[in-house]
Amino acid sequence: MEAERCDVAVIGGGPAGSRTATLIARAGYRVLLLEKRERIGYPVRCAEAIGPRHDVERYLRLDASILSSPVNGFLVRTPRGETIRTDIDAIGFIVDREAFDRRLAETAAEAGADVRCGQQAISLLKTGGAVTGLTVRDLATGREYRVDAKIVVGADGVEGLSPRWAGIAGSLRPGEIFTCAQELIGGIDLPPGPIIEFHLGSRFAPGGYAWVFPKGNGEANVGVGLNPLRAGGRTACDYLDAFIADRCPDGKRRRLVAGGCSVARGLRALATDGYLVVGEAAHQNNPFSGGGIINALEGADMAAAAIGGALESGTASVKSLVSYTRAWNGSVGKTNEAFFLAARVFFNLSDGEMERVIRRVSRVPGVFDPGGVKPVRMILAIVFAYPRLLSRVLRLMIGGREDTSAGGGTS
Ligand SMILES: Cc1cc2nc3c(=O)[nH]c(=O)nc-3n(C[C@H](O)[C@H](O)[C@H](O)COP(=O)(O)OP(=O)(O)OC[C@H]3O[C@@H](n4cnc5c(N)ncnc54)[C@H](O)[C@@H]3O)c2cc1C
Repeated sequence: MEAERCDVAVIGGGPAGSRTATLIARAGYRVLLLEKRERIGYPVRCAEAIGPRHDVERYLRLDASILSSPVNGFLVRTPRGETIRTDIDAIGFIVDREAFDRRLAETAAEAGADVRCGQQAISLLKTGGAVTGLTVRDLATGREYRVDAKIVVGADGVEGLSPRWAGIAGSLRPGEIFTCAQELIGGIDLPPGPIIEFHLGSRFAPGGYAWVFPKGNGEANVGVGLNPLRAGGRTACDYLDAFIADRCPDGKRRRLVAGGCSVARGLRALATDGYLVVGEAAHQNNPFSGGGIINALEGADMAAAAIGGALESGTASVKSLVSYTRAWNGSVGKTNEAFFLAARVFFNLSDGEMERVIRRVSRVPGVFDPGGVKPVRMILAIVFAYPRLLSRVLRLMIGGREDTSAGGGTS
């Protein structure tokens, strides 16, 4: 089999992979970025919401070609149909995700990375237990080739297999994933703002939520993300149909997407000898919302810092990469853990309990602010609304990382 050589091989051309590749290439190393799809960012499987400008522009300048709509607040519709609206100027944006991902990959190529589409990683190569490269299939020709790399980065997203090949993660279980379906709807009535909408309760999204995210020009991403274990045998598309029939029956359906979104608890270890994992493949999504674009970029920065140090020291052992796991677990990973606990309690409430909790949470100052949702305050508000939930929160906390199940309902 033909062999190539590089310093770092990155599997996956999403935000995590492109950002990691950019930073390593900028440091002067030979980087190969492999994406199995023919086109970066396409097809889009995303509701396209991101946070405020200062958060995003750490990674990418937000110009008109990437932005679809500003977001100036949000609306929550409770299971009984009450709406609670919060206006916060410039809380975020809806982007054109394909353009966003393409720009990130172009930035990697400009930094010197060799960006290749239609190339699927099919296995990792190991020497004495350490990852030393991978095998790749060119999907256009069927040709297989070997890539020897000092470090391999798994940025292969929710369907990624590389963390399993490396032995640092198992496959996601049904309760660790939101099953999603979304339609781009034209000619939809939207509240002024623009604001994003979250619709809660078992009617449209058991164990998750339904959303309406404005794209401008009278269009919106209208979707549902739910816990398949609580869906009663119905699919996400069934729930989406019901939601659309209720929220925008006269809207024009323009593009259906379906996919899974990780809401799993964070991984204990993010690296092993010669390999590290970043982005959604590393369970770095926010486990409450499922959002993961900015988290993937933050993870990439931390991964790249550790890779740079390892390459400089001439060793790719897990010891030289462990700073990445520590950096993540000590920062975003910690917040994600609080979000995980909040989600496990909140999304398993009955509709009646959820109704009461939402009213309570919406009155607690500081749970929602321009900096985002504060998970610890949210947990406290939930527990104050339902003191008997305290025991479940404590069980989850004491249970450590072993409890990744969907939990049971409380009704
Ligand atoms: C319906 C839906 C709505 C969402 N909405 C939002 C939202 O509004 N806001 C938000 O922040 N997040 C959202 N997310 C989550 C968000 O899309 C992900 O968290 C984000 O894309 C993670 O980035 P990533 O780079 O880790 O993975 P990805 O963007 O998934 O990139 C991984 C890449 O790896 C490639 N790949 C996989 N295996 C291989 C292989 N063997 N060889 C080569 N390439 C491979 C894939 O083709 C893919 O391009 C949503 C997800 C879904 C499903």
